[in-house]
Parts: sequence; C-alpha cells; structure tokens
Amino acid sequence: MKVLVAVKRVIDPSVRPRVKRDGTGMDLEGVKMSMNPFDAIAVEEAVRLKEQGIADEVVAVSIGGQKSQEILRTALAMGADRATLIATDVEVEPLAVAKLLKSVVDEETPALVLLGKQAIDDDSNQTGQMLAALCGRPQGTFASKLEFEDGSVRVTREIDGGLETLCLALPAIVTVDLRLNEPRNISLPNIMKAKSKPLAQKQATELGVDIAPRLTTLSVAEPAKRQAGIKVGDVDELIVRLKAMGALS
Ligand code: AMP
Repeated sequence: MKVLVAVKRVIDPSVRPRVKRDGTGMDLEGVKMSMNPFDAIAVEEAVRLKEQGIADEVVAVSIGGQKSQEILRTALAMGADRATLIATDVEVEPLAVAKLLKSVVDEETPALVLLGKQAIDDDSNQTGQMLAALCGRPQGTFASKLEFEDGSVRVTREIDGGLETLCLALPAIVTVDLRLNEPRNISLPNIMKAKSKPLAQKQATELGVDIAPRLTTLSVAEPAKRQAGIKVGDVDELIVRLKAMGALS
C-alpha cells in the first residue's frame, strides 16, 4: 500500500506570531518555520504503517516555495521514502492546495492520503475534506486511531463529546488529530540519510490547475490584550465579585 502524506511549512508553534504593522498579514521576516505539527503526526503514522508492513511506500508532498524542501527533508528523515515539492511562490488557499494534491493523487494513486486536520497558520481545516470531494474518495477526519483490515481502514474520530468509528473502503483520505501518535525525534544518522533520498520538484503552473486566490484578507489583528486580574481576600469576596460581574446568579 502506498501512503501519500501532505506536509505544510508553517510558523514554528513555539514562536509567538507577529502581525504586520499594516495589518495585511503575519510578519514572517526572520521567523523560525517548521512542519505543521499535525502533518508531523501524519508522517509518523505513515512511517509506523511502513514499519508494521502495512504500507510499502511513504511519499511526502508539499506545496510552497523552495524553503518547503526543508520540511520535506524532515519527512524523509522521519522515514518517508521520497518526496515531491509542488513549487509555487503564490500563497495557495485550501481549494488550490486540494486541486494540486488531487493531481498528485491521480499520478501516484496512493491507497491512503494522510493530511493534518488543520494547518496552524490559517486554521482552515478544509484541505482534506476538499481533496476527498475532488477525488470522490471516502474521508475520515480528526482521526485518533487507524486500524487496517482487508481493503478498508477503521478510523476512530474525535467528535464533540466522544468518539465515532467509521469504516472506509480504500483508497481513502484521512486527516489526523493530536492524539493519533507522538512523532519521533529524528536522529542525526537519519538526517544524513535523508539528504540522499529522492526529492522531486514540479512547478504548480505545470499541473493545469487554477490556483488563483478566491479570498481577500481584509485585515489581520492581534488578539485583544488580556485585562489584569484582581486578587481577592477570600472565597466570600470572590463570590461577591463574580456576582457583580454577572458570572454567578
Ligand atoms: P488546512 O485546510 O489549511 O487547515 O490544512 C489541512 C492540511 O492540509 C494540513 O495539515 C496539510 O496536511 C495539508 N496542507 C495544507 N496546505 C498545504 C500545503 N501548502 N502543502 C502541503 N499540504 C498542505
């Protein structure tokens, strides 16, 4: 079984993002970038499937500028067999990403496509669902457990207030949630080994897909600063203050 994993280069989750002074977007100048954390979980799962003999090839794909090669090398160091960069300097929205991924799916015909449930920069939570619709494949979103049976995958999904288990016929699209696994630390020998693994490159413009933006960002703003807290003397005073704020009846 071939597994395709989509990985996006985003602001490192440990960095506090800054909004550009003119409010047109995030200031990425000199900011540390990494693989989207949910995508690292997707790569980890694909590599574990290979280690268990369920998958026989893991292919990582990213859409973005040349620097996205760095996160593809990370995926290779984690254990992916090869990678493809769909190169573009245009900022691509989820629909464009889904269309570009579809052309990769058409060419690679993987039995399973793994994506993160969301990219932590745009928080769209759309790409996997759009890809499933464009490919006409079953989808399992927010996966916290995957179990493979003959020609199908059971996906345990994290939903409000509990878990739901779906059985999807392969080929399928799955988006992964936080609790699926904990991605491995990458060893130095594996980083070195990754340098010689194949990393192909295609121009997004070659794929015959309309990636023109559909959305206009009107403004981006920092969240409102938190108000300073108040220290209360005892529980009675706390209750009085909460009642005054309308937080208690
Ligand atoms: P989103 O719908 O933007 O929240 O992204 C959901 C998932 O789609 C991500 O976790 C990635 O697996 C995948 N994805 C989004 N954008 C890209 C990209 N530029 N390149 C590769 N995968 C992407």
